[in-house]
Formats: sequence, structure tokens, C-alpha cells
Amino acid sequence: MQSKNDYRLPLDLSRLGPKRWRKLLWLIEDWVAGAHSGTVRHAIDIMVPTGTPIVAAASGLVVWVKNDGLYGGVAKKYWLQGNRVVIRHDHDEYSAYEHFKPQGVLVHVGQRVVEGELIGYSGRTGYGFLPHLHFEIFQHPSADCSEGETIKIFFKDIGLVKDGDV
Ligand SMILES: [Zn+2]
Repeated sequence: MQSKNDYRLPLDLSRLGPKRWRKLLWLIEDWVAGAHSGTVRHAIDIMVPTGTPIVAAASGLVVWVKNDGLYGGVAKKYWLQGNRVVIRHDHDEYSAYEHFKPQGVLVHVGQRVVEGELIGYSGRTGYGFLPHLHFEIFQHPSADCSEGETIKIFFKDIGLVKDGDV
């Protein structure tokens, strides 16, 4: 299943042209092979350094935030440390962004954001080898709206559907 809404890339790297982006996104797909499974199988990881500005992929309402994670690494104990934002959009779709740097989230639950608005700075809190942005579009949210079932993402700015399931 593919997203009903169109989303923009959640990063503002406007100096990079679409070609460079495509290359980056294909690299991502190779890199994440095996890293996402089950309900997060359509998530993607974008390799960006700590401190990269992260923007809302579409307009919506912030429904879930974690901003007190301090650490990251490749061990189970880091699994729930990832600083994360979830935004609700039209058609009951949700975007999720994870691994913001400590105190790197700039929005709060109940806040309305517009497409392209700065929501925080990337980092390496939570589970991961390297600093990166984990990005998902999901539906069928859990009771607290923190997670759901991921779907394939249509990025309008690069005219490409990305699917973490490789
Ligand atoms: Zn990921």
C-alpha cells in the first residue's frame, strides 16, 4: 500500500539537486536492508549528520513527541531512547521522524505545523550505528499514536515512491 498524501523530503538540503537526492535515497535503500521488519518494514533511513535540520513532510498536527532520550548505539537498551516526533495528516496518515539529537525536538503535542516547517535537529539517540534520520509514513495508529503500520511513501519533490522493504 502506498501513501494517499504526497510528502516532501523531510530535509531541507535544497542545494542538492534531484539527481543527488536520488543517489542518496538509493544508497539508503541498500543500507537499510534487513534493519526494518514487521510493522516498520516500509520505513526508510536517511544518512545525515547530527544537527541536520528536519522539516515536516506535510502539514498536520503533532500528536506524539519524545525529547528526553540522551543516548544511542547498537544495543537493545537503546531501542526506546530515540527522540521522535509523530504528525497526523489527512487521510489518517501519520509521519514519524526519529533519532533527533538530545533535546533536539522543537515542537510539542497539539501544535499545528505546515509543510516544510522546522521540527528539530537530527542526531543519534536510540538504536543505530550512525547518526541518521529514520522516517516513516504509517496508518492504523496505536492508542497513543506513537506508531502504526508503515506504508510506502510517495515523495512529490523527487517523483519517487520509496519503500524500505527491499
Ligand atoms: Zn530506521
